[in-house]
Amino acid sequence: MTAEIRNSELPSEPGADRKRKILIVEDEFVNREILSAMLASEYEVIPVGSGADAEEALRRQFGEISLVLLDLNLPDRHGLDILRELKDDPRTSKIPVIVLTSDKEAEVECLNVGAIDFIPKPYPIPKVVQARVRRTIELSEDRDLIRYTERDHLTGLYTREYFYRYAAQYDVYNRDVQTDALVLDVNHFQMINERFGKQYADGVLVRIARAIVSAVGASGGIACRRSADMFLVYCPHLLDYQAFLDGIVTAACGEDKGRIRIRLGVCAGADKSVEMQTRFDRAKIAADTVRGSFTDCVAFYDNAMHEKEIYAERLLDEFQAAIDGKQFSVYFQPKFDVRPEKPILSGAEALVRWIHPELGVISPGVFIPLFENNGLIRMLDHYVWQETVERIGEWKRKFGCTVPVSVNVSRVDMLDPDLVETLVDLIRGGGLEFSDLHLEITETAYTEDARQIISTVNRLRETGFVIEMDDFGSGYSSLNMIATLPIDVLKLDMAFIRNVFRENGNLRMLKVIVEIAETLSVPMIAEGVEKEEQLNALREMGCAMVQGYYFSPPLPPGEFEKHIREWLPQGREKE
Ligand code: C2E
Ligand code: CA
Ligand code: CA
Repeated sequence: MTAEIRNSELPSEPGADRKRKILIVEDEFVNREILSAMLASEYEVIPVGSGADAEEALRRQFGEISLVLLDLNLPDRHGLDILRELKDDPRTSKIPVIVLTSDKEAEVECLNVGAIDFIPKPYPIPKVVQARVRRTIELSEDRDLIRYTERDHLTGLYTREYFYRYAAQYDVYNRDVQTDALVLDVNHFQMINERFGKQYADGVLVRIARAIVSAVGASGGIACRRSADMFLVYCPHLLDYQAFLDGIVTAACGEDKGRIRIRLGVCAGADKSVEMQTRFDRAKIAADTVRGSFTDCVAFYDNAMHEKEIYAERLLDEFQAAIDGKQFSVYFQPKFDVRPEKPILSGAEALVRWIHPELGVISPGVFIPLFENNGLIRMLDHYVWQETVERIGEWKRKFGCTVPVSVNVSRVDMLDPDLVETLVDLIRGGGLEFSDLHLEITETAYTEDARQIISTVNRLRETGFVIEMDDFGSGYSSLNMIATLPIDVLKLDMAFIRNVFRENGNLRMLKVIVEIAETLSVPMIAEGVEKEEQLNALREMGCAMVQGYYFSPPLPPGEFEKHIREWLPQGREKE
């Protein structure tokens, strides 16, 4: 392989006030003096007269020497042997060497061993020698600069761009080797950063990089740091990836092994016709399947994941046709106010379904995350909002009352600078009040890009929209933060309800949350309520509203209307 992993030394940039150093290895005193005199005004010369002295000088200052001028006939050693050693040692292999010789025959061999140029003896006029020396140093420093951008500053591994290039190059020369694409991702690296400090966290990354290099470098594998805490490795197939990962975790964390979890995804032996980046995307997909697991840290990209990927691609391909063909339907799930004895309908949530002509009904849990990754979600959400506004208007006209409906506003929508305007236009176009449409914004959106989200939410509230914080309890908002957040309703995450009730009636957490809502004077909605005992417990605690299968699943608009009729005091239908 052409480019093996190395913890590269980055080129030391000579300061402006410092002359570059040239090592002159020449045993004849007169020649040494002549060369030194030619170069001394521009460079700092280090003249030595033997192989041993040359070695000593290199050992002491290999990082500082910009060029070696090397005579072949030395009293103690042959110049070719010195050249060979220089080129074999990774610390000195990048120092350019110009050979000083009167022997035409030796030139080819010197070039093969790695000399960059010759200066014949007797020496040409000073200008020629100076020009050759200058040019050689310039070329070598340009190359160093390229090497510099090839490498990640912190770990010395390749940067992403070079990595993909070298990996592809590896394939060209090793067609028959089974090679695997690996992704190593540190779980919750941000937390390590916050808890132990940047210096410690950087140390972890450097140790991971070193451990990777020592594990796969010998077999010709290459590695890169893809992003802060994600590493890519391309290497000949390994037999035991669990042992590989264990070795890296141990090396990276030493005593504090428990502190750090790394997940490893492997795309093993992919067909070489599969694009390099795709192989790593697949390894990443595999790695993400063990994101939340405490027992499994290694996952292989397999057939099931492949099928899922193909399915996902199909959905993405067919998205536009589905929008045009009105294959997306908006369902409505009622929300009930459970404070009165007899619960009353207080609104609904709009939830989208894809009624696919061949694949049947597809749940948003499947396609929403796909569309969120590439911005299609905005188009879909606009469609859903438009449909919802039309429905609300229709019910208003038909029943003479308003059923406020909440729509989901994705994180991606929140970053759209035209969001407020778009929503305002929709409401005006539908002849509705702003308070008729509630907006559900997920808790994690608030924690991701707090400042921008909060300012958008403030503008939406000032306009008159009602903001519900969705999936509350799934993110990590601190109490302080919640107290300052602009929200009108807290919508408790379904998983939260499930966990609380699973632990056999340990309702203390839930009580705390209800109290938080009370302190903030915002009503709370519990979603995913399926059982009577859940409803009773929530009611007792003072939870205002409930949504869930206990009352009703999401329904097509026609069926949802039945709830409106039932709830209307005297069946006040207008037509
Ligand atoms: P969500 O906003 O948290 O919606 C609640 C989900 O819980 C819905 O799943 C609903 O059908 C389900 N659910 C309601 N009551 C119960 C219950 O008692 N038991 C159980 N097991 N489930 C219940 P759905 O409709 O599959 O939606 C999944 C997620 O997809 C939603 O979670 C939301 O994040 C997203 N989503 C749905 N429609 C849209 C949309 O139009 N736009 C955007 N951006 N996201 C949407
Ligand atoms: Ca929701
Ligand atoms: Ca939710």
